[in-house]
Amino acid sequence: MTETILVLNAGSSSIKFALYPAAQTPSSPLIRGKIKGIGRAPEFNAVDISGRNIDKGPLAAIEVTSDHQHLTSLLLDWLDVHDQDNNVVAIGHRVVHGGREYATPVKISIEILQELRQFVSLAPLHQPHNLAPIDALIKRNRDLLQVACFDTAFHRTQLHLAELFALPRHLTDEGIIRYGFHGLSYQYISSILPKTLGEKAEGRIVVAHLGNGASLCAMQNRKSVATSMGFTALDGLVMGTRCGTLDPGVVLYFMQERGMNEEEIQRLLYNDSGLLGVSGISNNMQVLLESDHAHAKEAIDLFCYRAACEIASLMVPLKGLEGIVFTAGIGENSAPIRAQICANLEWLGVNLDSEANQSNAHIISGANSEIVVSVIPTDEESVIADATFNILQHGNE
Ligand code: ADP
Repeated sequence: MTETILVLNAGSSSIKFALYPAAQTPSSPLIRGKIKGIGRAPEFNAVDISGRNIDKGPLAAIEVTSDHQHLTSLLLDWLDVHDQDNNVVAIGHRVVHGGREYATPVKISIEILQELRQFVSLAPLHQPHNLAPIDALIKRNRDLLQVACFDTAFHRTQLHLAELFALPRHLTDEGIIRYGFHGLSYQYISSILPKTLGEKAEGRIVVAHLGNGASLCAMQNRKSVATSMGFTALDGLVMGTRCGTLDPGVVLYFMQERGMNEEEIQRLLYNDSGLLGVSGISNNMQVLLESDHAHAKEAIDLFCYRAACEIASLMVPLKGLEGIVFTAGIGENSAPIRAQICANLEWLGVNLDSEANQSNAHIISGANSEIVVSVIPTDEESVIADATFNILQHGNE
């Protein structure tokens, strides 16, 4: 029987999972899969190490009413049946918020779970979904090692000024600061940056994580010095359905003049804005790129313009720029979006090799570009697997 580490990455509408051998530093997962469309049109799929689809069993038809806790149990039952050769000895979780306290992964106990619940109010749309599977697993097997890996942790090295809002000091002291997110993705990129960029990896780099959620991280010596997301994952870039940076006066206006309540404002800013809101067509970049509607074009133009503005603004904490790295769904796959963002930065001496860009090559900048531009696929699950493996081997040091 092979001992394995299960990684769970529970988002608001999906649970991604991957199963790694526990006998060595995890590399490729034995099984990888996803339940997507939770609460709307849930759908499950899983592939083995060679990319072949695995039989879905009872997960072929999921009730639309199934919540994260229930789906975690179904997933574990499916793994039990499906993979009788494997014995899960530890589970690693993505947890969006670790507050100021958690700068490294941690072994979960009932007390720690209780502490992590305190951060629910800081990330109401994500944290409850991350904690639900942990709860379900504690109920199932209290002795199983569970590890929490935090999306905020990578940014705890940010410059002091990069973390501050210009709010009264007591609010800063109470934790109203720019935490930053997508940290597991940035940690992965940071870990493999030298492979692609060599010595330049230690220089001044902006990593653009452009997926449905999107953010930027300014890195120096492969550590975060500033990021575009703030107190919540709503700040910064234009995203699939989130507005990104917004004049806070607009929120006051919605309340005072439009009589909107908190739930309506939340839905507007998190679910109905971004690419979807501006285009009125879709949150999906691929769909917008295929559309010839003027509003689709405007949504794309705004996405690229704002990404370029924010990249340029991160040159202040970095005091310059040597490299730009694109990652996540859009960053890894969309040559036209990378080209348009970089065209907005031509004045900096950025240019692309269009063939390399078209083929999603690791280095896509032109030979005479003053800034190296790179495409690196991210892998949040492998970061969680590594952390869980380390705690399994050495405990919580
Ligand atoms: P999430 O934040 O949900 O993990 P992903 O990183 O999977 O998001 O990114 C999803 C986004 O990536 C979608 O907007 C999708 O259209 C976009 N995307 C994926 N492949 C391509 C492609 N080939 N061209 C353009 N956009 C793409």
